[in-house]
Amino acid sequence: MSSKFQAPRGTFDVLPAAAMTRRRIEHTAAAILARAGYEPIATPSFEDTELFERGVGHSTDIVRKEMFTFEDKGGRSLTLRPEGTAPICRAYLEHGMQRLAQPVKLSYVGPFFRHERPQAGRYRQFHQLGAEAIGTDSPLADAELIGLLAELLAEIGVPGVELRLGSLGSLDARQAYLEELRAHLRAHEGELAREVHERIDANPLRAFDADDEGTRAVMAEAPKLVERLEGEDAEHFAEVRGLLDAAGVEHAIDPTLVRGLDYYTRTIFSFVCDRLGAQSEIGGGGRYDGLIEQLGGKPTPAVGWAAGIERIMLALEEEEAAPGRDVFVAVAEGGEARRAALVAAELRQAGLSAEVDLAGRGLKGQLKHADRIGARRVLILDSGGAQLRDMASGEQRPVEASKLIEEIVGGQA
Ligand code: AMP
Repeated sequence: MSSKFQAPRGTFDVLPAAAMTRRRIEHTAAAILARAGYEPIATPSFEDTELFERGVGHSTDIVRKEMFTFEDKGGRSLTLRPEGTAPICRAYLEHGMQRLAQPVKLSYVGPFFRHERPQAGRYRQFHQLGAEAIGTDSPLADAELIGLLAELLAEIGVPGVELRLGSLGSLDARQAYLEELRAHLRAHEGELAREVHERIDANPLRAFDADDEGTRAVMAEAPKLVERLEGEDAEHFAEVRGLLDAAGVEHAIDPTLVRGLDYYTRTIFSFVCDRLGAQSEIGGGGRYDGLIEQLGGKPTPAVGWAAGIERIMLALEEEEAAPGRDVFVAVAEGGEARRAALVAAELRQAGLSAEVDLAGRGLKGQLKHADRIGARRVLILDSGGAQLRDMASGEQRPVEASKLIEEIVGGQA
């Protein structure tokens, strides 16, 4: 009988087959990022609410609608982290990392929380892996990070991936453009979705993300920021593109690309996958040159990305085959279960995977179970000695009791 409890809405259990795929994804990411000098960091699952209000931005959907915010017993307002960059910048400042050689290159993986309407690829607790380079404005850093995410998705084997690239310019340079965009939106007020209309002042860029037809038609005619980049912003963007071309990282310029967090400046990018439905973004990020200052530090340029593990899993559409076992140590009539347990432990210490029966099965049941868990060989202990059976061929031969471990480990090679 199943229990009356279920995992909360928008959350899910990761069962063993899926857990193995996730482990492979995390290991691949850790290896690729470590080779490029990104060191792992972990921050708490919740932070002061104000960190996200200031960092992510008051006018964003995340802060307005999606945060899991609660008061602790001391009356402090805390929030389950909806994203990883603001907490990492908080840690960078808190631990004086600006005094280290710059940039500080960090990577992370863990759960994040957003109170969104659940659907395929969108959950209330999800997992991101991410990387950040803090303390550099070099386009080399943008291209390096984008290249690493491209490499990661390729190595994991995510099919149908496309990279979209844009630039939001620097914060100051963006102001004139935003005024122009607001004027365009006001001139078409009647055609816009109510949400977009309400945010003309606070967040006009988000209009590019609206999916209603009226707003989309207005945005097709709207002035585009990438086409208006000037001076150093234009040079920076051209340099990033040149570096990606040189490295053979295919990309398409998307003048309508925007992101759901306020902190982005200059480069923004998004990896989308054609195997996914409405939630087609696998990962994305960009530059956030103003964020550290926004959180109380000195102006510190930085760039980073995050990729969603669940989206990667959905795109892969397959689960890892169970790894099987090297040896199952069975006990025949007259054999000793204690001895089997000791032999299995010795085999494990020698680096093999080995299991024994823990359910009191007879020999026949044990062999059936060994087959079920994918054991390649079964060692059968009886009163006098031992037999080693190869499960694929069915061949069975006696092994000398004094040489059990050597024989089995040796036969493994
Ligand atoms: P963001 O932090 O919004 O830039 O998102 C970065 C990545 O995290 C996205 O590309 C998705 O892969 C993933 N992601 C964001 N929100 C969710 C969610 N609610 N459920 C699952 N994955 C998500």
